[in-house]
Amino acid sequence: MASCARCSTEVDPGTYCPTCGLYLEPSSQTSSQSAYSAPPPPPPPPPPGQPYAGQPYAGQPYAGQPYGAPGYGAVPADVGSKKLAAGICGILLGTFGVHKFVLGYTNAGLIMLLSTVLTCGIAGVVFGVIGLVEGIIYLTKSDADFHRTYIAQKKPWF
Ligand SMILES: [Zn+2]
Repeated sequence: MASCARCSTEVDPGTYCPTCGLYLEPSSQTSSQSAYSAPPPPPPPPPPGQPYAGQPYAGQPYAGQPYGAPGYGAVPADVGSKKLAAGICGILLGTFGVHKFVLGYTNAGLIMLLSTVLTCGIAGVVFGVIGLVEGIIYLTKSDADFHRTYIAQKKPWF
């Protein structure tokens, strides 16, 4: 039994009120069906304090320092020793392009080496001066500047 909404007479749900004629809907079934059709509640938000869950930083040594930033990110620790080796090789062995091989410039190194050998050392005089100047340039640059110019940009000459 339920009460009529207009006159409060006791009426069976799904029938008309005998007093005022108001139709009383079968409210119990209607409400239960509407509850079943309601959308499910949204999933709870992720717990705070774990912003990087599922995104490990393994294998991303430059995370937070993207390329293109000033200085091209972190400068490797071996740049200083590489700069020193390339500079000394350029000054002492620049005739044979040894400092080019140190920097990984295989083509430039081969050009200097083969030219010196094939001209019986005549071209070596010129390349010796070039290597001397380049070696001094290497040594006068800072580690970050050397890395940016000769490793990041791969400038082959001077
Ligand atoms: Zn009524």
